[in-house]
Amino acid sequence: MVKEAFKRVTSYINPTGIPGADFAVNPYVGCPHKCAYCYADFMKRFTNHHEPWGEFLDVKICDKPIDVKKYAGKSILIGTVTDPYNPFEERYEITRKILGQLKDSAASVSIVTKSDLVVRDIDLLKQFKDAQVVFSISSHDDKFRKIMEPRAPSIPRRMMALQELHAEGIPTAIFMAPMFPGITDFRHIIEMTRGYVGRYWFSSLNLRPGYVSKVLEIINASYPHLKKLYSDIFVKKNTLYWDGLDKEIERYCLENRVKDYDIYFNFG
Ligand code: SF4
Repeated sequence: MVKEAFKRVTSYINPTGIPGADFAVNPYVGCPHKCAYCYADFMKRFTNHHEPWGEFLDVKICDKPIDVKKYAGKSILIGTVTDPYNPFEERYEITRKILGQLKDSAASVSIVTKSDLVVRDIDLLKQFKDAQVVFSISSHDDKFRKIMEPRAPSIPRRMMALQELHAEGIPTAIFMAPMFPGITDFRHIIEMTRGYVGRYWFSSLNLRPGYVSKVLEIINASYPHLKKLYSDIFVKKNTLYWDGLDKEIERYCLENRVKDYDIYFNFG
C-alpha cells in the first residue's frame, strides 16, 4: 500500500550537474516501482520519510506556470531521480501537465522511464521540436525484471512502447542501466531493438555501501554461478570487469555501426 501525499513546490524544474543536461525534473518524491537495487531512497533523508522505499509517494504541486522562454536552447532531463510515469501518474497527470507547458519551449527534452504509460502522452510529444523517450532496461529477460523490478512494467511492455513511439515519429533511446555483470546482454538488447531505437546509453551498476549485501543476497540466491564475480566487483572492488566491458561495448558499436551511444561508467 503506497501512502500518498501532496507537496507544494515553487518550481518543477531545477538546475542539475548531470552530464549532458542543464535542468532536471522529478514530478514525484518516491517511486512505487520499488526496484531492489534503487539507490534513490537517499531522498528519504531529505524529505523526512520513514516508510520503506516504494511505500510512499509525494505528488509535487506547483501552481506557478513554467516560464518556457527561460529554457530555450537548454536540455531538460525528466526522471533523473525517480520514474515520472509511476502508476500514480495515470491519476495525477503531473508529468503530462509539465509536458503540456514545455512543448511550447525551445528546450531539448529527454524523458527517462520504465513505464509504457508514456505512450499516453504521444499527442504532446509530437508537438515538441526536440524530445526523446529513453527506456531504462537492465536485461531483455523478464525473469530478471521480476526478481529485481517486481512492480515495474514488463520488458515486453517496454519494447512495445518503444515500437509505438518510434512508429509515431518520437525519437527513442535505451538506457542500459544499471548493467548487471554477467546478466545484462548488451549485444542482445541492441540486436533486438535496432529497428526502433536510435540511441543507446550504458551505465554500470554502482552499489553504495548500504546496498551491496541486499543486492548480492538476491544475486547469490537467483544466480549462484555469479557469486564469485559479484564478490570480486562489489566486495573486493576489482574494476577490471568494467574496464573490459567498456572496451567490448566500444568494439561492438564500431564493428556494428552503432554510432549514437554514450557510456557512463562510474565505478571509482
Ligand atoms: S524505477 Fe527507478 S526510481 Fe523507481 S524504484 Fe526503480 S530504479 Fe528506483
